[in-house]
Amino acid sequence: MTTDFQSVFGAEPTTRYSAPGRVNLIGEHTDYNDGYVLPFAIDRRTVADIRVRDDRLLRVASSFDPEGGVQERSLDALDPADMDGWSAYVFGIAWALQDRGADLSGATGLDVFIHSEVPVGAGLSSSAAIECGVALAFDELWGLGLDRQELARVGQWAENKAVGAPTGIMDQSASLLGRQDAAVFLDCRSLEAEVVDLGFDAAGLELLVIDTHVQHAHATGGYAARRASCERGASVMGVSALRDLSVDDLPRAQELLDDETFRRVRHVVTEDQRVLDTVRTLREQGPRAIGDLLVASHASMRDDFEISVAELDLAVETALEHGAVGARMTGGGFGGAAIALVDREARGTIADAVTAAFAAAGHSAPTVFTVHADEGARHDA
Ligand code: ADP
Ligand code: MG
Repeated sequence: MTTDFQSVFGAEPTTRYSAPGRVNLIGEHTDYNDGYVLPFAIDRRTVADIRVRDDRLLRVASSFDPEGGVQERSLDALDPADMDGWSAYVFGIAWALQDRGADLSGATGLDVFIHSEVPVGAGLSSSAAIECGVALAFDELWGLGLDRQELARVGQWAENKAVGAPTGIMDQSASLLGRQDAAVFLDCRSLEAEVVDLGFDAAGLELLVIDTHVQHAHATGGYAARRASCERGASVMGVSALRDLSVDDLPRAQELLDDETFRRVRHVVTEDQRVLDTVRTLREQGPRAIGDLLVASHASMRDDFEISVAELDLAVETALEHGAVGARMTGGGFGGAAIALVDREARGTIADAVTAAFAAAGHSAPTVFTVHADEGARHDA
């Protein structure tokens, strides 16, 4: 186990838990419309090394923290108003467990050291990785007996209330429910989740992530505006969420809505259908057949939802020109990363072509790497 724990806490950890980041294969801006998403857990993990204390203190440190200090809270005085910065992701889990009804009166204090291979802010959900590893650890070490779906809700509750980020439950579901070479098909209304085999390994395919490092200042405002358009569209159409519309409702939507709202609605409605089609296609025809759905998803985000940027379009176009099976931007938009489904042998060629195209266009260099679908949160040692 790591010696970082030793240098911070002056003893060896006694146990280790870890949880992965995630990438979303398809289903963008569908989560808050009660729709469908298809993310998978990746082979980059956040590790929590832990030692049980004999008091009621929760003490945490992270290699991510440049000051490297230890922060602590008493399990008898957990208050989300008194949590900020990265440690809110850890203290927030303890608070969220309690707030959602777990009895922590018999829980022992813990020393926790976090270190991570999930890059922060690259659209791979380093936040869910830390939440879910810690949530599984607390559940097992405190004998709470919660299932993974409840732990996902605990992670979301911590992120919403203790961190203050209004996110959905996709990231935590992927990080807790992931399996090797499989994706997590999540219904964001019922929160039912199903593991769907990807079959990338057998087909000789890999998923490239192209991190553009672009993050536009208007991303937050743009996200809020898209949510507002979706709510307006649902309300005019007389449904509680856009999930309740199908592609057959689009002609009527076009009559009733202004052009911009209609195109926002069309993205969400067709994207939900593409997630369903991707799941069916994976099962019936295998992963090589999903390329067109990925490409259609990108076009819909670029033209109807208008959340792509030049760098993302260039990454997608270049990957496709050089033989990718499919490609699309992933994540909230206005920057971030694109993904490309590629033949294992073509990985180098496509990565080089994208890097060269960025240089030729005068964009700063992207980071390109592969991810594999991996197991969700686990007790490692
Ligand atoms: P992402 O897309 O990576 O999830 P977020 O903004 O949602 O981006 O979450 C990133 C935040 O999560 C970081 O700013 C930090 O507060 C916390 N975090 C992520 N990884 C770690 C880590 N290894 N140690 C401590 N905090 C972390
Ligand atoms: Mg996050």
